[in-house]
Amino acid sequence: MRYSKLFGKTVRDFPKEEVSINAKLLIKAGFIDKLMAGSFTILPLGFRVKEKIEQVIREEMNKTGANEMLMPLLHPKEIWNETGRWDSAREVMYQFKKENKEYALSFTHEEVVLDILRKKISGYKDLPVKVYHFSTKFRDEPRAKSGILRGREFLMKDLYSAHLTAEDLDKYYWEVADAYLRIFKRFGLDAKIVEAAGGVFTDAHTHEFQVLCAQGEDTILYCDCKSNCDCKFAENKEIASVKAGDKCPKCKDCKIKESKAIEVGNIFKFGTVYSQKMGVYVTDKEGKRRLLHFASYGIGVTRMIGTLVELFHDDKGIIWPKSAAPYQAHLISLQSGEKTDKIYEQLLAENIQVLYDDRDVSAGQKFADADLIGIPVRLVVSPKTENKVECKERISDKTEILELAEILKRLKKDQEV
Ligand code: ATP
Ligand code: MG
Repeated sequence: MRYSKLFGKTVRDFPKEEVSINAKLLIKAGFIDKLMAGSFTILPLGFRVKEKIEQVIREEMNKTGANEMLMPLLHPKEIWNETGRWDSAREVMYQFKKENKEYALSFTHEEVVLDILRKKISGYKDLPVKVYHFSTKFRDEPRAKSGILRGREFLMKDLYSAHLTAEDLDKYYWEVADAYLRIFKRFGLDAKIVEAAGGVFTDAHTHEFQVLCAQGEDTILYCDCKSNCDCKFAENKEIASVKAGDKCPKCKDCKIKESKAIEVGNIFKFGTVYSQKMGVYVTDKEGKRRLLHFASYGIGVTRMIGTLVELFHDDKGIIWPKSAAPYQAHLISLQSGEKTDKIYEQLLAENIQVLYDDRDVSAGQKFADADLIGIPVRLVVSPKTENKVECKERISDKTEILELAEILKRLKKDQEV
């Protein structure tokens, strides 16, 4: 992509009212635009990051045998009345009336999934079901001030699973938890599985995936897990049975620490609560009618974008992990375009994802914008590099002058991970 043709360039006038680092950097670098508090456009650069994140999630979800689909966002009141959530979740739900009929905008999809299941599932042979989608959620958030970490409209991956038995559900639940840890690891995030409350979803405990970060809105208490300890004890402060400095109740050895954290995912084991409310039964081998066992699993896709920026940046801008970067390489020309044009064409021919700053602006501006945008590898072509190319990683200060063939080899290797 030629930068001159990209819609959504770096922004000079800094959004002064923004307090969060993620919104400041993402707006300034041209990844998102703010319509109002909690409501953002994902511009073309940001869209590529979103696609990268979704692809990693998709690969890991598919490995668990889940099927991707897409569910509607406009829901009739009746379906929410079946579980009582039209009233109990009124605070977060956008509800409205149009010509005597009442609707809600989707804040989650349990009711919709169970409605599909009761139409499509008859016997145990149809189970288990594992379905997911990437789509928008609407929530009337009272404190939409953390930039893209907390939207009133945001993107989520939500997976739902239905099983004949509690044991089968439990097995898959932990399989998904493992898949979640793999997903976060692929973005360089060390997520902790934290026991937490269920909010408007359930009275039972749930498991959140929390990433330590001073800017997070959650507070967690967790085992410091020194050298040989792998107990991984962690609780959300909202339900915590311990406090900072206590001895860990699980390993009975290490100390409990307290930290702010960002909730990047949450999984919920509902058992038969929802299927009972909605009357979703299946016949087992013996011909007996049984209630479905049901669970749901969410990852905040737009919140992931914000989390990566909160954790991976410096005073110059964003530092994308390779797995989420909008492009692999940022090509800069410091001389007449022809030679760089040729290198750009060669990179494209080798399927390297490259952003080419072909503008007629100062070298200083090109370098500053490259640091702000945060693409992992910067390539510079100048009279000084002769027939070679200067190569620098965003995370390092070291520059190397390399043959294009060597650079291609490295960038190809990056695509393998
Ligand atoms: P929070 O406690 O932060 O309000 P939640 O517990 O209500 O979130 P869940 O229903 O568990 O959220 O949603 C699943 C995932 O969706 C969360 O783990 C989070 O990553 C993401 N998410 C939830 N609310 C928002 C929001 N308002 N903006 C962006 N992402 C969100
Ligand atoms: Mg949650």
